[in-house]
Amino acid sequence: MRKAARLTLVLVAVLVSCLAASCIRSGSIVRELETPDWQYAVETDHYLIYSNISRELVERAAVVAERAYTGAAKRLHVDDDDPAFVKTLERRLDTAPKEFVRTLDDGAKLYELPDGVTLREWSSDNTVRQFELPDGRTFAFWEHAMYGRKVPVYLCKDKEELDAWFPNTSGPGRGGWGPAAGVIGIITTSKNMNVDRDNVAHEIGHQILGYAVYGPPVWLDEGLAMYARVDAETGRYRAGSINTAALLTCAKGAEDGTLVPVDTLVRMDYNAFHFTKNEWQHYAQSWALVHYLIRSKHPQVRGKLARYLDELKKGRDALVALEELYDLDVLQDEYVAYIKALAERELKPRTRQRSRTPDARSSLLLLVAQPLAA
Ligand SMILES: [Zn+2]
Repeated sequence: MRKAARLTLVLVAVLVSCLAASCIRSGSIVRELETPDWQYAVETDHYLIYSNISRELVERAAVVAERAYTGAAKRLHVDDDDPAFVKTLERRLDTAPKEFVRTLDDGAKLYELPDGVTLREWSSDNTVRQFELPDGRTFAFWEHAMYGRKVPVYLCKDKEELDAWFPNTSGPGRGGWGPAAGVIGIITTSKNMNVDRDNVAHEIGHQILGYAVYGPPVWLDEGLAMYARVDAETGRYRAGSINTAALLTCAKGAEDGTLVPVDTLVRMDYNAFHFTKNEWQHYAQSWALVHYLIRSKHPQVRGKLARYLDELKKGRDALVALEELYDLDVLQDEYVAYIKALAERELKPRTRQRSRTPDARSSLLLLVAQPLAA
């Protein structure tokens, strides 16, 4: 008996010392970080999360960040190193044989890679690189935002704090994923932690799509970022859960004929999408379009989004590839019908109850920093 009791004591002591030594690994947190700049900071497998707001916020953000990373990486097959994908070149850059050719007039170092690919490199504290394929197409990227680096996530209390930690942002945005700096910065709502967690998941959606393709079309970038989300009421993170605010907007548009045609939405550039009074409608419709493309069972739609993403990963023109895979007239009709059916199923019984919590919209007025033109 005494021996058993001693053993139990030893086990308890080991357990306690393990907890005390922050061998955390509970949920997604690898360890707490000590930093003079932030009151609360944790490290996860893929992120460094900082805030001055509360320990609970960084810890809960850490859990959703890892789930968002894993979910999006799996959904987009980000780890697929198919040699036909341009990002594969980027991933293999450190180990690829490359021969220095010369320094160009603008200071770029020019290298030759296998298979007729050339690389230009502008070195500074934020190195920019650009591939040129043998057919003349170019793809540029920043070193700081390359795949495999732990991404800092700053959960800021105000715009001043955001500006200090999220360099080179412009405009009135509440933060975003900055592909130049390779950071995520967000001004927290300080009202609903679930909205802040949704914003983290949203920006990670942008980050992961950026790991898969260069310069994705805005509708796809925003629609995918909204597809997996944290529900503001329940706090549940789930792919494909209904964004009530977006669906209400789309349902109204479908009802009164004011939906932006699919043909127009898929051609919008960054400025046309964001810098307009209809920005929210563009977000809402992009959410609905991605939801439809992923979930529709229509024979001309089902399963094609993965093929479309593969075309983008190969560096194909986004609009040309879309029109090759889909009949946009069919898409238009079916998209509107899908919105109406979804609204009928999801909104009718809950409209009164849900309309008291206008939350999702505030979670999405975030700008992703404008991508580097390729
Ligand atoms: Zn976004």
